[in-house]
Amino acid sequence: MKKVAILGSTGSIGVNALWVISKFRQHFEVVSLAADKNVDLLEKQVREFNPKIVCLADEEKAGVLAERLKGCYSGEVVAGQAGLIKVVCHADVDLVICAMVGSAGLMPLLEAIKAKKQIGLANKEALVMAGRIVMELARQNGVRILPLDSEHNAIFQCLEGKAHNSVKRIILTASGGPFRQRMDLETITMEETLKHPIWQMGKKITIDSATLMNKGLEVIEAHYLFDVPVANISVVIHPQSIIHSMVEFVDGSILAQMSVTDMRIPIAYALSYPERLKDVLASLNLTQIGTFSFEEPNLDRFPCLAYGYEAVTKGGTGPAVLNAANEIAVQQFLNKEIKFTDIPKIIKKVMGTHKIIENPTLDEILKADTWAREKARNIIIN
Ligand code: NDP
Repeated sequence: MKKVAILGSTGSIGVNALWVISKFRQHFEVVSLAADKNVDLLEKQVREFNPKIVCLADEEKAGVLAERLKGCYSGEVVAGQAGLIKVVCHADVDLVICAMVGSAGLMPLLEAIKAKKQIGLANKEALVMAGRIVMELARQNGVRILPLDSEHNAIFQCLEGKAHNSVKRIILTASGGPFRQRMDLETITMEETLKHPIWQMGKKITIDSATLMNKGLEVIEAHYLFDVPVANISVVIHPQSIIHSMVEFVDGSILAQMSVTDMRIPIAYALSYPERLKDVLASLNLTQIGTFSFEEPNLDRFPCLAYGYEAVTKGGTGPAVLNAANEIAVQQFLNKEIKFTDIPKIIKKVMGTHKIIENPTLDEILKADTWAREKARNIIIN
């Protein structure tokens, strides 16, 4: 029986993780759940999974939840940052699923690693911000980080049992997003952007997929997770999204991981690792798919991918600044304050004015993050 904590249980990844757990109840126990504000869904999850501890980051909403659960829940309701840390550090927890969105996930991730919990990582922003520190801390504490992101989960599977020096390159696949073939990017609306052709995901990653920033963040994530030089990580557009990524070995062999396009497959593998759960979903029907195609990403139309490469190549505080500027620009786009094409412009301007600190401490990373947010908020695009 694996004992699980889920940070971000009310989000797209969190809900899918709970779906897998409820299908395979005999293998898992939910010890703790956490979200930000979504009282209704968290209440429902508490009633269904009866965790020992539950947290809402929003203190007021946590009070509402505690009130609603009075008399029918014997566990603990906690709030805020301190509450998130209690959720991940609970003595019974073996595996923490980090599925919060954005930089807010970094501190609970670090605390979970310090508490020697195994990690199932979806929250790519945390790794982009502080990849070197996260991976070093994981090594020091003997913690394995299992990637939930479908691409990194695919690479993880292709690399299993292979020598590090046998890897020639990592090939990340990308769906290309909803605007792969669209020319008038200037006129794109927020509503159109939220309609991803393949994946059903949270708002932030859906926007990131449309700008290809998601792939830029994934290049950085792959660099830190698998310790592969960024020059050996390439991206190919694969609109069918059946091959979730590939690894080329020094002899020219390429291994690819395929499955139906559904996050429950990589989530199930991270939950059950090193075992495999049986019949998580229906099998992939290859003849129904018929054709696989591949194309180069267009970096002129989607410069965010190039900015991801640039940030990780420069290193230091660069990726944290890229991530912070992107989080602000995406929020502004969701608020309808800027255009789709302003997102890369804001990121470029913020990156262009940042003086990189090499080998930054955690404190320097957090300061760079705050600086970049402030800078991004104050940029006016002509
Ligand atoms: P969602 O927006 O659907 O969910 C985000 C979750 O995080 C919600 O439960 C939300 O709570 C919670 N949350 C947000 N801020 C805080 C906070 N400050 N404290 C505690 N909880 C918080 O996002 P996704 O599930 O789509 O994505 C989550 C992460 O996984 C992202 O980093 C994304 O890049 C990554 N990922 C997602 C994939 C997907 O298919 N969705 C695929 C690969 C990676 P509330 O509901 O209360 O707001």
